Amino acid sequence: MIEEFKKYNRKILLNLKNLQTDIAKISKINNRNLNQIKLMLVTKTLSKEKIIITLNSGYKLFGENRVQESKKKWPELKKKYNNIELHLIGALQRNKVKEAVALFDVIETLDRFSLVESLSQEEKRLNKKLEYFIQINTGNERQKAGVFANESKEFIEECLKKYDLNVSGLMCIPPQSEKPEEHFEYLQNLARIFHIKKLSMGMSNDYETAIKCGSTQIRIGSKIFGARD
Ligand SMILES: *Cc1c(COP(=O)(O)O)cnc(C)c1O
Repeated sequence: MIEEFKKYNRKILLNLKNLQTDIAKISKINNRNLNQIKLMLVTKTLSKEKIIITLNSGYKLFGENRVQESKKKWPELKKKYNNIELHLIGALQRNKVKEAVALFDVIETLDRFSLVESLSQEEKRLNKKLEYFIQINTGNERQKAGVFANESKEFIEECLKKYDLNVSGLMCIPPQSEKPEEHFEYLQNLARIFHIKKLSMGMSNDYETAIKCGSTQIRIGSKIFGARD
């Protein structure tokens, strides 16, 4: 069992090293400053035990997609390891807002005014300020969270103007069946229009394209931890 675990840890470290090398290579080819591309480790479905190797190696930026699952893992890990930055990258239901504001540092899935209002209220109640990204449903997919493309400008503008949430970025997940370029370029362009600095885009299968298109944060799961069940 211990041998097995050591083997797992070695594998993760190797994957991370290879990924870092690749990111450095891609950013060089595309004239991107490596310091401006953050690597988020997406740890959804992984047990605490399987995350620890990355914390012990100094990684600080993590993404989870479910509030309930994160509550079982991260309060303890955050207590044990300093300066963890935990992002929610999955859809947020309004009845989970309290728990989300208490636990997360950044919520990347802002996509409707009802949610904006509850988050704003909860921030005041807890006297805690988070950072927010607006999720854009660039492919206008029915089943997917995010603001539809044709409503995105109005939504972003109102969010920035009417509410006191600290909106610092945009996020998207391109449709699986389409080339990611046009989606990433669309998001990059939106960010430019509104002078929004951060762009959360790029996953295991499309981070190269995302970096090319100006991503400031790639969200990587399976490329590091292996395929999820
Ligand atoms: C799961 C997930 C990722 C990571 O996906 P991989 O393909 O495993 O790298 C990134 N972003 C979001 C929103 C996710 O839900």
